[in-house]
Amino acid sequence: MIERKDLKKCHRIVIKVGTSTLTYKNGQLNLQRIDHLVRQIADLHNQGKEVLLVSSGAIGVGANRMGFKKVPSTMPEKQALAAIGQGSLLHIYEKIFAEYGKIVAQVLLTRGDFDERIRYLNAANALLAILNMGVIPIINENDTVVVEEIRFGDNDTLSALVAGVVNADLLIILSDVDGLYDCDPRLNQDASLLSEVDEITEEIEERSRSRGSKFSSGGMYTKLKAARMCMAAGVPMIIANSDEHNVIARLMDGEELGTLFIPRAEKMQARKKWIAFGRLPQGEIMVDEGAKEALLNQGKSLLPSGIIGVSGDFQPGEVVKVVTAGGKEIARGLTNYSAEEIRLIAGKNTRYIEKILGYKDYDEVIHRNNLWVEV
Ligand code: GLU
Repeated sequence: MIERKDLKKCHRIVIKVGTSTLTYKNGQLNLQRIDHLVRQIADLHNQGKEVLLVSSGAIGVGANRMGFKKVPSTMPEKQALAAIGQGSLLHIYEKIFAEYGKIVAQVLLTRGDFDERIRYLNAANALLAILNMGVIPIINENDTVVVEEIRFGDNDTLSALVAGVVNADLLIILSDVDGLYDCDPRLNQDASLLSEVDEITEEIEERSRSRGSKFSSGGMYTKLKAARMCMAAGVPMIIANSDEHNVIARLMDGEELGTLFIPRAEKMQARKKWIAFGRLPQGEIMVDEGAKEALLNQGKSLLPSGIIGVSGDFQPGEVVKVVTAGGKEIARGLTNYSAEEIRLIAGKNTRYIEKILGYKDYDEVIHRNNLWVEV
C-alpha cells in the first residue's frame, strides 16, 4: 500500500491544472501562478523525472480574450473560443517553460483517441516518444473539433486517462481547493480535510455534486471520478491547492498536503485491468521459454523471435494474451501487429520484419510500455 513517503520514488508524473488555477476570477491569466507552476514543473524535470502537464483553460482564456463575461452555452461558440484560447495558452506556456530551458509539446486529445484501440496505442506511443525526447507534453482536450456526445468535458477525467495511458506513477490534480473534506467547507466551518482516502463511498460522491466556477467545468465530482479511475488502475492520485507554496516539491517530498487517494490494487495488476477495461482480449500469442524469461524477469518487450504461435484474428492496437507453450497466461498487452502479420514474422529476427511485411513501424510486437505482466 502506497504511503506519502513513497511518492519520492515516483518517476512519471501527470500534473493537472484547472482553469481556476490559471486565471483570476475575472478570467484574466494569473501569470504569477502560471510562472510558479511552470518553475516547479521545470525543477521536477531537472531532477530527471518525466512530467506531463494536463492543462485546462482554452475556453476560459478564449472567452476572456474576446471580452466575454462568462463562457457561452452553445457548442460552436465554445469550440471557437477553445481555438482562440488554446493558442494563447500554449504561447504563454512555451514562453515561460523556455525561460527554464524546457521544450514543450502541445497534445490535443479527444475521447475517441482512447476508445479505439489503435488510436489509444498511437496516443500512448506519441506521448512516450515525447517523454523520451525529454520534452514536456502539455495536454488538453481538442475542444474545437470534438462533438458533445464524445466529449470528456472535463480535464480531471482526461488526466486520469492520460495517467493510465502512459503508466504514470502519480497524478497530481492542482486546484483551488485544499483537497477532499468530510463535508462541504463552504457550508460547514468544522469541515476537516481528509489526508488519505482508500475508498470512495457513495456518500462521499453524493456530497461532491456541485459544479466548479463559471469559467471551469470540473468541481469535486469530476475529481472523484478521476480518483476512482486512478485507484482502479493502480495510480496514486493527489488533489491539492495550487496556491500552496512549492506544492509539487512538497508533495513529492511526502509532506502531508491535500488528499492522497490510495490505489486499492497493486500497480502491475491494475495496469492490466486498465488496458483490459471493458475489452476482452482478442487473441493469444504463444511464446517460447526465452521470451517468457525476458518478459517476466528481464523487463523486456516482446519481439517476433520468441513467438511460437498465434490464435485469434486481431488488429494492431488490440489487447492480446501472451501465453506459454503450455497455454498459461503470463502477460497481456497491446499488439503493434495484426494476427496475420504475426503469423508471418513469428520466430524471425526483427531485421526481417520489413522484408516480410513490406514495412516496419516497430521492432516490438508488444512494447514493454504497453505490456502488463501477470504477477
Ligand atoms: N478543455 C477545457 C478547456 O481547456 C477545460 C475542461 C475543464 O475545465 O476541465 O477550456
